[in-house]
Amino acid sequence: MHMPHNLPLFTITSISRPEGYVVLELSLLLKDVPGAIHSVSNVIKSYGGDIKWGVTHESDKPGLAWWCTFLLVKEDSVDEMIESLRKLDLVSDLEYTVHRDRIIITRHHDRILSLGGRAILFRTEWLKHIHAAVGKTWGTEGAKALAYIVGVDMGKAAHKSHVSFIGDLKDELLSFLLEMMGGTGWISGGSWRKDGEKYIIRLYDLFECEIAGESHLVRGELAGYITAIRGRDYKATEVKCKARGDEYCEFVVEPVERVYER
Ligand SMILES: [Zn+2]
Repeated sequence: MHMPHNLPLFTITSISRPEGYVVLELSLLLKDVPGAIHSVSNVIKSYGGDIKWGVTHESDKPGLAWWCTFLLVKEDSVDEMIESLRKLDLVSDLEYTVHRDRIIITRHHDRILSLGGRAILFRTEWLKHIHAAVGKTWGTEGAKALAYIVGVDMGKAAHKSHVSFIGDLKDELLSFLLEMMGGTGWISGGSWRKDGEKYIIRLYDLFECEIAGESHLVRGELAGYITAIRGRDYKATEVKCKARGDEYCEFVVEPVERVYER
C-alpha cells in the first residue's frame, strides 16, 4: 500500500533514549554485495545496538557503497562494537560519531546531491521573508513577475537536466517532473492531462501557495518546462488554488498567441 508520510529531519531525538545509551552515527563503506547490510546489522545487534534510521548511497569508489545509520547503543559497548565491525571483510572504511546533544544533526554528510547537482534544504518559512523583501523592493506586481521569470528559467534548466538523466521523453517528462516535485516535498502529489494544445496540471499542497497565497515561481517553472518540451513559448495561468479554498492548485499551460505572427 502506498502511504506517503512526512520525513522529519534533525528530530531523531524524538526517539526515547534510555539511561546509559547514546545515539551513534555510523557510516560504513561496504562492499556492494547482497547481504552486506544484513551482516553488519547482525554484529550491531549482537552488541545490543538498535538501528533507528539508515540510508544507503553510492560512494565514489567502485564496488563500494555507503550505509549510514543512526543507532541506539549502550555507551560502554561502542568501542568493542566498532572494533568488531572493523574486522569484517565487508567493511572497507568506517566513521562514527557519538551524539549526546538534544538535536542531532548529521556530521558525516555535508552535501546533498540531486540528479548530480548540489541541492540544499530550505525551510519554506525562510521563503516568506524573501517574498516579503522582494515585494517591498519591487512592489507586489514586480515581485510576482520576477518570481515567474525566475521560474521559467528554472523550468528550462530542469528540463535540460531531466533529459540528460532519463532521455528526451517529451510529454512524459512531465510525469517525472511531478514525481520529483513530490519526492522533494514541493507538492504532495500531482497529475496532468492534455486538452488540445493546452496542458492542465493539478498540484496538491503546493508549498508556494501555502506561503504566498498564489503561485508564480512554480507557475513559471511549468511554463518553462513545457516551453522546453515543445520548443515554442508557453505561458501558465493558475486557475484554481488551494489558498483560495480549492482542493488543489490547477494550472493551464498554453501556447503564447503571437498576435503579429503570420
Ligand atoms: Zn495555488
